[in-house]
Amino acid sequence: PLKSVFLLKFTPRFCVSLKTKDSNTRRLWKSVSLASSCLDASRPWLCFWILHSLELLEQPIPAAVASEVCQFLAHCQSPTGGFAGGPGQHAHLAPTYAAVNALCIIGTEEAYNVIDREKLLDFLWSVKQPDGSFVMHVGGEVDVRSAYCAASVASLTNILTPKLFEDTTNWILSCQNWEGGLSGVPGLEAHGGYTFCGTAALVILGKEHMLDLKALLRWVVSRQMRFEGGFQGRCNKLVDGCYSFWQAGLLPLLHRALFKEGESELSRQRWMFEQQALQEYILLCCQNPTGGLLDKPGKSRDFYHTCYCLSGLSIAQHFGNMDLHHELILGKDDNRLAPTHPVYNICPERVAQALQHFHRLPAPEDPRWKGDSADNTPSDPAPDATASGSDDQQS
Ligand SMILES: [Zn+2]
Repeated sequence: PLKSVFLLKFTPRFCVSLKTKDSNTRRLWKSVSLASSCLDASRPWLCFWILHSLELLEQPIPAAVASEVCQFLAHCQSPTGGFAGGPGQHAHLAPTYAAVNALCIIGTEEAYNVIDREKLLDFLWSVKQPDGSFVMHVGGEVDVRSAYCAASVASLTNILTPKLFEDTTNWILSCQNWEGGLSGVPGLEAHGGYTFCGTAALVILGKEHMLDLKALLRWVVSRQMRFEGGFQGRCNKLVDGCYSFWQAGLLPLLHRALFKEGESELSRQRWMFEQQALQEYILLCCQNPTGGLLDKPGKSRDFYHTCYCLSGLSIAQHFGNMDLHHELILGKDDNRLAPTHPVYNICPERVAQALQHFHRLPAPEDPRWKGDSADNTPSDPAPDATASGSDDQQS
């Protein structure tokens, strides 16, 4: 049984604080920070990995804990916009994505109000490159993760403008190689994490049909291992639990994209991978007996693999969206997780709630392109992206 093992034994201090509400909260964050000095530049990630794991497990987050997380993330927000890996560090697109996702999971006014949208837009412009790509931070490296992080936070907070993502589509498309998957930058080897980021970014921008979808489909389904049932990240590599999301998460995006292209042979019950085999791999091979999830047997548990194993398990359990939904739950009912949104990887209700909140607010003034407003977004992800399998399918 997945939930009891995870909740009772893994991250004991976090769970204790969840149940007792008061004085343990401080201890929790202290324990997270002490245990993770190597993750000192990834602290918003820890918030996201833990909060998303808990929402998948349908565990409520006590108001006091949520408020402390909001205050902590506010300290990580840079005076120049965007979020850093920790207080006093430089803004970086990866923790910016993690912080915005974490705040949207919390989903309170306090959480939304942490985000300085005008400054966030300034930060996104500061990392935008003339060729359409983004650097991860000012003076940093370019790769396709950055385009996804930028598109994700911009769309969730309603600051996405066509000008900000000018030429980004072509740059991402140039990362798809002869294998069918995408590499981090043009000309390298196809890789699960980069392929997810590039594809999800194109879905947000409404341009995923410009990929070679069939080549991408062939590449990703070939990454599910015949013996283990889990996914590898690249050709000829070993299976790894975290690719349960980065690879399997592509199938909902592809299902919808192919449907929009008029593909008539698509299932209305199953994604195009072996959902049961992936669940077997995660449940049987990726659980630490004392709680938490991992890469493969013999490896140690961590918050990253816990988050992405659970996210992949959720994808394998739930086909479709709220309108058309088909569940395939391996084992006891207790193993059932909440659905996750295949573009943002937070629960779909949280995505809808954030979009609703931020679309009520005016788009920040963008001096770089007068007249461009978020009302002109190339594709509103609200109805579309939630529809991984989609009401399209019912028509
Ligand atoms: Zn991994």
